[in-house]
Amino acid sequence: MSGNLSFEALKAEVAGGTIDTVLVCLVDMQGRLMGKRFHATHFVEKAHSETHCCNYLLATDLEMATPDGYAATSWRQGYGDYMMRPDLATLRRVDWLEGTALVLCDVLDHHGHTPVPHDPRTILKTQIERAEAMGFVPMMATELEFFLFAKSYDDIRKSGFRDLEPISGYNEDYHILQTTKEEPVMRPVRNHLVASGIPVENSKGEAETGQQELNIRYADALSCADHHTIAKHAVKEIAWMLGRAASFLPKWHHDKVGSASHVHMSLWHDGKPLFFEQGAQHGMSMPMRQFLAGQIKYAGDCTVFLAPYVNSYKRFVKGSFAPTKTGWSVDNRTAGFRLCGEDTPAVRIECRIGGSDLNPYLAEAALLAAGLRGIEEGLDLGPATKGDLYEAGDDDHIPRTLRHATEALRGSAMLRTAMGDEVIDHYVRCAEWEQEEFDRVVTDWEIARGFERA
Ligand code: ADP
Repeated sequence: MSGNLSFEALKAEVAGGTIDTVLVCLVDMQGRLMGKRFHATHFVEKAHSETHCCNYLLATDLEMATPDGYAATSWRQGYGDYMMRPDLATLRRVDWLEGTALVLCDVLDHHGHTPVPHDPRTILKTQIERAEAMGFVPMMATELEFFLFAKSYDDIRKSGFRDLEPISGYNEDYHILQTTKEEPVMRPVRNHLVASGIPVENSKGEAETGQQELNIRYADALSCADHHTIAKHAVKEIAWMLGRAASFLPKWHHDKVGSASHVHMSLWHDGKPLFFEQGAQHGMSMPMRQFLAGQIKYAGDCTVFLAPYVNSYKRFVKGSFAPTKTGWSVDNRTAGFRLCGEDTPAVRIECRIGGSDLNPYLAEAALLAAGLRGIEEGLDLGPATKGDLYEAGDDDHIPRTLRHATEALRGSAMLRTAMGDEVIDHYVRCAEWEQEEFDRVVTDWEIARGFERA
């Protein structure tokens, strides 16, 4: 259960007049909350069992376009309905909005018979069930990095996104003085999230002007993705309420460090961490070594789910703390996978490939699928990489562009087996569309470079 409000408690609050609105949401392909704002009395009487939405919500892009090429829905098929069934275990108060609660939904076909296979929550649940069938409970944490800007979203949009002034003036990595200046935004973020049932551990300044990191305590994989999604939404909404803007774009300027979303992972059984084995090298058990080997072997297959946009690939540059290679390391931040908590029961894998724009359900599902396959194949883990991996050979490079990553996804027998052709074809189309839209547009860079000189 990731929420903090039982249905009975909600009913009491509605009767007492302290909650009047319930946000009934699905999570879309981009990891955003989409849904309706219900009057709470209607929700407790009727809508708690189901509501409906247009099925284009899981076949659109950031701008709500209606791209062709999806088998699941189209103009030709009339863009029908899906059923949204509230998962009451996710019910929680939204502490930063007055009198408001929120519930996440499972997405089913129009008549509520079967889950929609390309729904991100369904995709993750399927991989969790697969792990559980193998005797593993996956525990995860996703870090959220983002930039805070001095002006509001509206002002920035009206200036054509040219007026991008970070909220602070210099690199604020671990910087208490700088982050004190940002407390008008970050303190409400931490406190409202905790009051909304999201176990925030801390926030800190990151390695660039205006850059923040928010850490949430690890949880079962589904709760982790729920927490991430709601926290990201809260950061944007609270920044907006205060006349500021928060951006999760992985690379908003080529001269600035990018924003990541590192994923921490461990497998458990009966409340015990299975990744730890006392006396083994670095305390890594055999399942951990095989899981990590699977993630390295299939990192290319999974990259679209870690870096879903054209912009995501601008983050993978050397000397920026973002990885460019898929190898693993012991506490070395230039590798795609870093061992954390070595020789302790908290020994875990940190995947550093994902950008701040990842959809946590899809990222976690892909990483789980790869790791579980590593265990099934009984893979050997190669030696840890050492030193500056930016300067190492190029064999194990992370796909360099969305185009490369899309082809890796299209050809991934591993992910097709784990998730099904329907799901993979759907997300291949999603990635292709991003690229097509980018290719269609003439960018500022081309104009500035060639207008006079070409
Ligand atoms: P760092 O020093 O890299 O910031 P932290 O100790 O802050 O590392 O932990 C980073 C994240 O890892 C936190 O969100 C924490 O909850 C999570 N974490 C800790 N132990 C585990 C574990 N065994 N499995 C998965 N995630 C974990």
